[in-house]
Amino acid sequence: MPKTFRNFIAGRWVAPTTRAYFENRNPANTRDLIGRFPDSGAADVNAAVASATEGFRKWSRVPAPARGDILKRVGDLLVRDKELIARQMTREMGKVLAETRGDVQEGIDTAYYAASEGRRLFGHTVPSELTAKWAMSYRRPIGVAGLITPFNFPLAIPTWKMFPALLCGNSVVIKPSEDVPHTVHMLVELLLEAGLPPEAIQLVHGAKAAGQRLVEHPGVPVISFTGSTATGAAIGAECGRLHKRLSLEMGGKNAMIVMDDADLDLALDGILWGAFGTTGQRCTATSRLLLHRKIHDRFLRRLAEAAEKLVMGDGRKAGSQVGPLIHEAARDKVERYVAIGKQEGLELVTGGRRPRSPRLRNGWFYQPTIFAGAKPKSRLAQEEIFGPVLTVLRFGSFEEAVRINNGVRYGLSSSLYTRNVNLAFRAMRDLDNGITYVNAPTIGAEAHLPFGGVKETGNGHREGGWEVYHFYSETKVCYADYSGTLQRAQIDNYD
Ligand code: ADP
Repeated sequence: MPKTFRNFIAGRWVAPTTRAYFENRNPANTRDLIGRFPDSGAADVNAAVASATEGFRKWSRVPAPARGDILKRVGDLLVRDKELIARQMTREMGKVLAETRGDVQEGIDTAYYAASEGRRLFGHTVPSELTAKWAMSYRRPIGVAGLITPFNFPLAIPTWKMFPALLCGNSVVIKPSEDVPHTVHMLVELLLEAGLPPEAIQLVHGAKAAGQRLVEHPGVPVISFTGSTATGAAIGAECGRLHKRLSLEMGGKNAMIVMDDADLDLALDGILWGAFGTTGQRCTATSRLLLHRKIHDRFLRRLAEAAEKLVMGDGRKAGSQVGPLIHEAARDKVERYVAIGKQEGLELVTGGRRPRSPRLRNGWFYQPTIFAGAKPKSRLAQEEIFGPVLTVLRFGSFEEAVRINNGVRYGLSSSLYTRNVNLAFRAMRDLDNGITYVNAPTIGAEAHLPFGGVKETGNGHREGGWEVYHFYSETKVCYADYSGTLQRAQIDNYD
């Protein structure tokens, strides 16, 4: 019998009021049923928000360094359970073990960073323009934070949102992706083991209906969402109407630019990792490769040979390099784009079909695929596919490469391979993205640096690093006048 999981609401593990459940299956072998998870509805979200409101009252009064101590313990518990969580994560998400271990490590780094932030949370003290008057700002918690997360980083993305939200003194209601609910279940167990007051964390499983209720609930002033651009736009409209604070992190169409002076061995390793790691299902995945015309043919030949050698398989098996897609709809989308590439007359260099091996029959596998000969406006060079499909474009000058890089609606990450230091700095200035890598692929964010993109990738906020602590706290300014007289700003000091 598969295990039936529950929500965590008001300090207890409870069944959903809907009595409905969805199945969580291993994408590498869909016969492997991990468990049934609550398909929650509005009443479950309402109960979670009511309890989180109570939780906020208590948790926001715990001193920030003490909140940090609890998050430090969460980090220690993640260290203890790293291997166990990584294995379970690969089972429900599909990416290979090295990557799920990295996913847990990102959670550990985020926990330790949050713990240290508990002793900072800096405000400012500045001189007043009036005598005998003190002026300062401090950062205060906001309330219940509603967090909606995607499938591709089942632990890291929830921790990016939960840990700073909690450190700042907010309580949390999290609605994880219905594709990877088990990892957040394990994470919540660790938060409780670390001593987090139960009402400070509420876990509501479910899909769109639960997410929508969280977004529209009047008791949730802060929403943080990572996922598809279409869903983010809908959430943005709703939060705008309700005057909610909102952080959006959405799509990308990230390019790697390889100049003719680049170290091509290094660029080859980079593109294989950037394009086909996580089966291309990262928002920072390298989905466009811009090759200088002088090295185009030579590099493409080497890349195709190397891509054909990548080993697809169950991510828990030694030797697997590329796991499956997350579900059937994701593979269908990849197949639709492969058909579009062919219709548009692009050259299919390698891949372009499902693997034939019977070993992979029960999973959502798809061959690493490369299309060349794309134009900047080709659909495969413009639209996010979120799968193992790389589109190659040829360019003749650095300026042209910058134009191609910038000519899409997204602006998450970019990368330049060159040995020319001047070009490296020009790339950091001119590539219109939130993150630019030099001599590294478009992926590889570190937990202590801000993460996010420009244009339609986001809405100006950042996850990670020091910036996310501004998102989860409200700046309050306090003036204390100890002159004993009425001092009128902008008036009395200019008499
Ligand atoms: P992805 O497929 O990359 O995970 P989605 O945008 O489909 O991206 O889903 C991201 C998260 O948003 C998931 O947790 C999903 O359940 C949730 N979600 C989907 N639709 C909505 C919606 N209309 N309102 C709120 N949350 C939603």
